[in-house]
Amino acid sequence: MMESITKISPRAALLANISAVVVKIGTNALCGADDRLDHRIIAQLAADVAQVWRQRNIRVTLVSSGAIGAGMTELALTKRPKDLPMLQAAAAIGQSRLINSFAAALQPHGLHAGQILVSRRDFEDRVRYLNLRNCLHALQRCGALPIINENDAVTVDEIRFGDNDLIAAHVTNLLQADLLILLSVVDGLQDGSGRVQPLVETLDASVAHLVRPERSPRGSGGMGGKLAAAAVVRTAGEPVLIANGKEPNVVQRLLAGEELGTLLRPAQRRLSARSRWISLTARTRGAMTVDTGAAAALRNNKSLLAGGIVATSGDFAPGDAVAIVDSAGQVIARGLSNYSRDDVEKIKGHKSREFSQLLDSETWYDEVVHRDDLVLE
Ligand code: GLU
Repeated sequence: MMESITKISPRAALLANISAVVVKIGTNALCGADDRLDHRIIAQLAADVAQVWRQRNIRVTLVSSGAIGAGMTELALTKRPKDLPMLQAAAAIGQSRLINSFAAALQPHGLHAGQILVSRRDFEDRVRYLNLRNCLHALQRCGALPIINENDAVTVDEIRFGDNDLIAAHVTNLLQADLLILLSVVDGLQDGSGRVQPLVETLDASVAHLVRPERSPRGSGGMGGKLAAAAVVRTAGEPVLIANGKEPNVVQRLLAGEELGTLLRPAQRRLSARSRWISLTARTRGAMTVDTGAAAALRNNKSLLAGGIVATSGDFAPGDAVAIVDSAGQVIARGLSNYSRDDVEKIKGHKSREFSQLLDSETWYDEVVHRDDLVLE
């Protein structure tokens, strides 16, 4: 008897069991030709997302740009302000417009809009990160679509991402969502002759070469930013789709496996939730250089002990993320240090039985970085 073999496309296979998705929509996709927020597009996206949520039971989290763009329209500004307080003001004015539009568009579908405004600190600080995750889950439990944007009215300088593609990537990792969809006004990653690449296997130099430098006057990402965000998600082990947000029912169609846009295949290994935070989100505060023996031990899934540490740099406290570097200067792992830099300086090169005296303390950790807190590069 002949067995029937159904051929599944690589895309359909990758998207077969999605249970949670993060969708990011850019400013230009949300605005009409007159540069105003296009409430029809917002209504279309709300219906699309509601359908996916209700019919397919897929949890959706939205990351939406458009606050600054909407604020610029409201203030009749034709150019994005260079003056930071004006940019903050435009965001404050536009964000309320944006969320009101989403709330009105979701209501007929029985969904609430749950606005969350974030800064880089909410991701880098482990406790804030976990609190953010709790809030997202709670919103979804009470039938609210989380709608995330950067808190542009108060985030400046080093606490600012300035890029919602990247925020969406970190949200994907935070939720361990199975897919990130980046919606803008391009149809996907195009090759040299303008044809959309349906599938990208790895993010190597040949792909970077396809990125065109142009950016829009209102948005901030561009394709370069999208690929940087995609790298964060695919390194964690999840796929990314880049598609045109103006396409009707784009989320449903993408999830049904339709060959729209560009699919970026994930890396082979899937990192755990904690590993994603350690290696991709936490800010690396310093580094420890290790000898060859310690480097080999780490590669064999062993903890980092003080005996193998030869040097430190940066300024780290207990619990901070550090890079672990081999003698050639290559980062081989990232992990959370049990000790401050000052204390590692005291115990480096020593055995743990000497720690009590070196640290002048009754208690200590045998491991400088425990294997459970380590992620190999
Ligand atoms: N947070 C900005 C806004 O809402 C958008 C940032 C971006 O385009 O990536 O206007």
